[in-house]
Amino acid sequence: MTNLIKKLKYTKANIEELKNEFRNRGDQDADDFIESRAEPILLVPEASDEERTKNRNINWKFHDTCFHCGRGAKGAVMFHMVNGGGFMASKKDSLLFSLFGLGDMYLYCIGSTCAKKFTKEVLKPRGLDPKDYFWGEAYVADYEDDPDYLHIGDTAGYEGDYE
Ligand SMILES: [Zn+2]
Repeated sequence: MTNLIKKLKYTKANIEELKNEFRNRGDQDADDFIESRAEPILLVPEASDEERTKNRNINWKFHDTCFHCGRGAKGAVMFHMVNGGGFMASKKDSLLFSLFGLGDMYLYCIGSTCAKKFTKEVLKPRGLDPKDYFWGEAYVADYEDDPDYLHIGDTAGYEGDYE
């Protein structure tokens, strides 16, 4: 495994620099600031109430529900929900949301079938790697076990800086 593959986008070493940039961002709001430094933030349409109700009979045996289609799911695949809901962020950018994202909603469940569909229809056509967007056994990225990798909510002891 080369260093190139293991290279992290953000580590503890970037925090001061990012916080300074955030303070000097001019008239950019926090969402624009994050977006300008993040991998693509992708829309994940949410299941309607009707879809959830329709699927209730098969949902009870699962402990989780797919955000996208409302069907029961095992919770084997999760995604980082941001912007107050309905959007998915890359694992590489967890620190940006921990430091500056008031609408960080942490991990939500997506069914493995919907994850595959999303990979085929949204990620692959844009040249994006599903291992950067989904969490779970089938989607482990090389950098996740790097001790310097900051997971969702981990700011290495620094406070968030929303304003
Ligand atoms: Zn689904």
